[in-house]
Amino acid sequence: MVNIRQGQLIGDHFGLSENGFGGEFLYVGRIAILAQHTLDDAFVHDEDFPRHRSPYGIRSVKDAIVHIMISISNMTAAQARALRFVLMDIDDTLTTEGKLPAESYAALWKLHEAGLVIVPITGRPAGWCDLIAREWPVDGVVGENGAFVFWEEPKGRHLKSLTNPSAVRNDAPELTRVLERALVEIPGCRPACDQFARLYDIAIDFAEEEPRLPLSDALRIKKICDDEGVRAKVSSIHVNAWMGNYDKLSMAITWLAARFGYSDERDRNSVIFVGDSPNDEPMFAHFPMACGVANVRRYESMIMHMPAFAASREGGLGFAEIAETILSLRGCEHGNGAHDTQRERT
Ligand SMILES: [Mg+2]
Repeated sequence: MVNIRQGQLIGDHFGLSENGFGGEFLYVGRIAILAQHTLDDAFVHDEDFPRHRSPYGIRSVKDAIVHIMISISNMTAAQARALRFVLMDIDDTLTTEGKLPAESYAALWKLHEAGLVIVPITGRPAGWCDLIAREWPVDGVVGENGAFVFWEEPKGRHLKSLTNPSAVRNDAPELTRVLERALVEIPGCRPACDQFARLYDIAIDFAEEEPRLPLSDALRIKKICDDEGVRAKVSSIHVNAWMGNYDKLSMAITWLAARFGYSDERDRNSVIFVGDSPNDEPMFAHFPMACGVANVRRYESMIMHMPAFAASREGGLGFAEIAETILSLRGCEHGNGAHDTQRERT
């Protein structure tokens, strides 16, 4: 749990001050929580708490706690050394302004060479994931918001896949209707240009290409999906809509368990996830070591469960900052051969 003595709290409605008794107050708007040492023992200090309202939609102590991020520089060496799995979103997490910077791609290689298991978790299509699984320094890639995972078997370099049994191909009439309604009701939105490479979802572009539409338009598209009984998530560039009962989190847990013997009860602190936008929220909420790149703050009003840590830099540079922090704390800033040793144990 976060130690707020070390934490750098963010946002105009957050503040920290001494209470005169050796503890500290955490202020969330007009809500005050007294924390003696950690947020574990926080309790409501303000008797009027239930009447106060926060611009972030915070209604309870629990809400306040999950809405706080602290700087990645506060990660401890013990937390970094406990990590085994590095999961990350791609768009606006590894990328910056639509490009994959040298810094974040190099960071993937350094993490890989340090023996960590690397798994991008993305809304991008099957066609892209084929390339990523084969050519990037990764152990697998979850695609189309959790419909499937692709990975390459080191022996024989065979590409393997696991698909969620509830996934429905994207020619389903419900998805066609969602797309037709969106194109009529939200002028300027369009099918994503990577749609031809998709198997199970439709992606509606609102901000990957010009003209960039406001987030309010993306939310209107999501509302159409909700009305039609179709699952949908908003990323920083697309609204993705699908039929099956899955998301990024459920597929990540299923596959890590099957492939690496991961136990979600036992091993949750061995996972770090890095993301940037509302479609990453299930991961932010689930993994106590989740991190946001700095641009996650753009979506603060749309994300209740913010990640525990935040980078100071945006996009790919933020990911590189997080990777360097982890590697430095683990005492392996550059690949030192640990990779082979680690893999023998998996
Ligand atoms: Mg993203």
